[in-house]
Amino acid sequence: MRGSIPAPGPLTRRHGGNTSCVELRCGEQRLIFDVGSGARALGETLRDRGGLEAEIFLSHYHYDHLQGLPFFAPMFDARNRFRVHGPARGGRQVGTILAGQMVPPYFPVTAEEVFLAQVDYRPVAESDVVELGDVRVRALELHHPGGALGYRVDFRGGSVVYATDIEHGSPADGRLAGFAEGADLLIYDAMYTPEEYEGPPGKAGWGHSTWEAGAAVARAAGAGQLVLFHHDPARDDLALAALERRARRHWARTVAAREGLTLSVGGARRRAR
Ligand SMILES: [Zn+2]
Ligand SMILES: [Zn+2]
Repeated sequence: MRGSIPAPGPLTRRHGGNTSCVELRCGEQRLIFDVGSGARALGETLRDRGGLEAEIFLSHYHYDHLQGLPFFAPMFDARNRFRVHGPARGGRQVGTILAGQMVPPYFPVTAEEVFLAQVDYRPVAESDVVELGDVRVRALELHHPGGALGYRVDFRGGSVVYATDIEHGSPADGRLAGFAEGADLLIYDAMYTPEEYEGPPGKAGWGHSTWEAGAAVARAAGAGQLVLFHHDPARDDLALAALERRARRHWARTVAAREGLTLSVGGARRRAR
């Protein structure tokens, strides 16, 4: 749930330093949103469970959302099967884009050489609906440099929206509020405080949002719990606790994501890393 780059160390021990990776369990289905460095830790919990199947949904391809994939242990087990859903970007499809981060000299081996699991790559775009049994996943294009997809999951009356990386202040805000209408859980990019965003020097155009904008979306959508996500790597635990307290004055049901946080939503469960 950390943004931009991992931030481990004594000052981030409580919330954790790993970048985006969220596991969502819907009955027998296992969905994973983004594979930032948190995917390595998630992979450890899934190691040696042969026959693992999971649906991986990628928001976009900035490093902080991908860097854990080469270290996600279940990829190295031939008994496992994954479907990786991601948007086409720059005329390239998800499989090609992912292969591009595992090539020398950036990485010693290619995905083709070392991923033993069966991996099917699926294109996904705004307005697509992915049906996985009782689970329904929809995608929305977010306002972010180079684009990013937000996802909404509905399962047996419970709903979760994963919306990072996003910058507020565009007509897209209204679309997100509609997309998240009535969601039980809204996971939202709260990288900056309103003061940091406004500046000077300010962060307009950097592609990220604030807890204040997140609370406004939660209110407009009539959402349940707001999960502040994509924390600034420089934000230590004390500062995050203060930020969480401020946000709760605007939207009472707010929690700042931390490593291993597990929340239950109707029939669904999510775990943030
Ligand atoms: Zn990011
Ligand atoms: Zn990004």
